Amino acid sequence: MRVLIVEDDRLLGEGIQMGLRQAGWQADRVSDGLAARHALAGEPFAALVLDLGLPRLSGLEVLKGLRAGGSKLPVLILTARDTPEDVVAGLDAGADDYVVKPFNLGELAARLRALVRRAGGRAASELIHGEFQQLRLDPASRRVVFRGTPVDLSAREFDLLHELLDNAGRVMTKAQLSERLYAWGDELESNAIEVHIHHLRRKLAPELIRTVRGVGYLIPGPGQ
Ligand code: CA
Repeated sequence: MRVLIVEDDRLLGEGIQMGLRQAGWQADRVSDGLAARHALAGEPFAALVLDLGLPRLSGLEVLKGLRAGGSKLPVLILTARDTPEDVVAGLDAGADDYVVKPFNLGELAARLRALVRRAGGRAASELIHGEFQQLRLDPASRRVVFRGTPVDLSAREFDLLHELLDNAGRVMTKAQLSERLYAWGDELESNAIEVHIHHLRRKLAPELIRTVRGVGYLIPGPGQ
């Protein structure tokens, strides 16, 4: 899952980026509001971490622009302790949650997971799939259990399975999957998605992920 971090304090921004990467996010970072607006227009981020005090365009303006355009992207705002009115303004402008600086990175990651989960209409933290709940994926611990047995997946394999499960019932094209799996600057081999799909089928079950010829891949939803 990709998250965009918008923070003009370089050290803090890098710290958040590193922390979220360790928590399994594909985390990209920009340091002003205009750059944030451009990035959000062009890429399929699953969540936004947004500082409010930003150069060129304030976080509040970025947020208002998003919501005015109909975006339901989960947004968590970062606010300073001495400006409690920012929290009110941010939530009123359509933010979903906030943390006050300085904050704990583990808490930030957990809040983001909760936002993405709720945006997907789920209450439980695990993604559970199939007859007899044969496949379980836990985004927090990054563990996968298939037919009662833990499965050892690489980070990319896990992320790919996460995207397919999160979109169960919808065909995902290779381009869509690549956009969601790779942050800026990541090296992407031309057949990377196929290779990871191949490994997932081998480690789980060949029939779990369907190929829709000429279109992409699909984990069927209930009743499909
Ligand atoms: Ca700032």
